Amino acid sequence: MNFEYSDKMKDLIARLEAFMDEHVYPIEKERNEWVHAEANLWKAWPKMEALKEKARAAGLWNLFMPAEYEKFSPGLTNLEYAPLAEIMGRIPSCSEIFNCSAPDTGNMEVLARYGTPEQQEQWLKPLLDGSMRSAYVMTEPQVASSDATNLEMTIFPDGDDYVINGRKWWISNIKHPNCELMLVMGKTLLDNPRHTQHSTIIVPRNTPGVEIVRPLSVFGAVHSPGGHAEMLFTNVRVPKSNIILGEGRGFEIAQGRLGPGRIHHCMRSIGQAQRALELMAQRVDSRTAFGRKLSQQGSIRQDVAKSFCEIEQARLLTLKAADSMDRYGNKVAKDLIAAIKIVAPKMAQTVADRAIQSFGGMGVSGDTPIANIFTVNRFLRLADGPDEVHMAQLGKLKIAEYNK
Ligand SMILES: Cc1cc2nc3c(=O)[nH]c(=O)nc-3n(C[C@H](O)[C@H](O)[C@H](O)COP(=O)(O)OP(=O)(O)OC[C@H]3O[C@@H](n4cnc5c(N)ncnc54)[C@H](O)[C@@H]3O)c2cc1C
Repeated sequence: MNFEYSDKMKDLIARLEAFMDEHVYPIEKERNEWVHAEANLWKAWPKMEALKEKARAAGLWNLFMPAEYEKFSPGLTNLEYAPLAEIMGRIPSCSEIFNCSAPDTGNMEVLARYGTPEQQEQWLKPLLDGSMRSAYVMTEPQVASSDATNLEMTIFPDGDDYVINGRKWWISNIKHPNCELMLVMGKTLLDNPRHTQHSTIIVPRNTPGVEIVRPLSVFGAVHSPGGHAEMLFTNVRVPKSNIILGEGRGFEIAQGRLGPGRIHHCMRSIGQAQRALELMAQRVDSRTAFGRKLSQQGSIRQDVAKSFCEIEQARLLTLKAADSMDRYGNKVAKDLIAAIKIVAPKMAQTVADRAIQSFGGMGVSGDTPIANIFTVNRFLRLADGPDEVHMAQLGKLKIAEYNK
């Protein structure tokens, strides 16, 4: 085991940190105020495109794309990407600057891995280029969607087309003005076994019959400009060539898509937790109550110490999962991916909770990033599969393994 970063990684980490210091931290407050102003609802932040250009020019672009898709990738392994995702994660909304934000990253990986050359030319290219955004359309309000075999949307062949009908919700990023592409999952082969009934298909956002019913809020925030929405698909028609990998392969694609996506979220959660801890340490050392600095209170020191231990534990587990994905592939690494998805958002939520407490009333306000870090990590315990589903799968795997 070698805990030392290579020279290549030291250089990339230093360049990314310098970019964050020069271009991203200074505009964090301004960006948040702009996107939260009512007049700017569902509008893209005007300075984003210029920042993206700067990041691309600095060679900090598409860093997430695994080295195995060489023709699309800057060539980093998951292990190499981990510290970079952590640095970007310190500001939850900033991965877009580096074209490394969900749900685009997962959609790009699907198209890189399973797309036809024509699908890659039409859809992957603009996504890699950052000129287009996208959404992943899976969850449905009327069924327990944590079990994806429940999904009821229909994708039926009709002549040269597929016709899509159904209701979806929690579709992130669909309100973004540049969102032009959806990867949609639904049922095609009703007589097949449960895991081979579903298909994934490319649907351009502006296809007739695609309707946004309403935006959804997360703890009262609508997360403009991308948002999350409930959607209705009524006789939506797309050419047969839009199917990805073939009929009945949707479940397999969802599994392949969510593995790397989950670990990316975890890497960012660790960055958020680290930032909350640093802010907490600075706050308690600058605030006096009952005649002593808060940092001199034993309970506060315990909160800092516990947070440090938990972040280090989660970071090591994430790096181990990333290393296992690189060495043995996502399928073999599924136990560690599940483990870190269970651990990281909960850890970050707990650290943010302690930081909120140490800030007093300011902790729940929008004056620090901590309240946002708390809510982001709370919803990450549901998004990409609830904690319990990962625990059920991990428990089953380990029971089988230890009974061999
Ligand atoms: C902010 C946010 C963004 C999202 N973005 C997207 C998106 O872009 N695209 C998309 O398709 N979806 C998205 N989702 C949806 C998300 O993936 C689902 O909410 C999640 O998979 C759970 O599905 P469900 O809501 O239907 O819950 P259900 O399936 O109804 O589950 C409810 C609860 O039951 C419990 N449960 C389930 N299975 C078990 C079990 N085996 N053992 C014990 N308890 C269990 C869990 O506590 C779970 O939370 C998003 C969700 C949120 C909150």
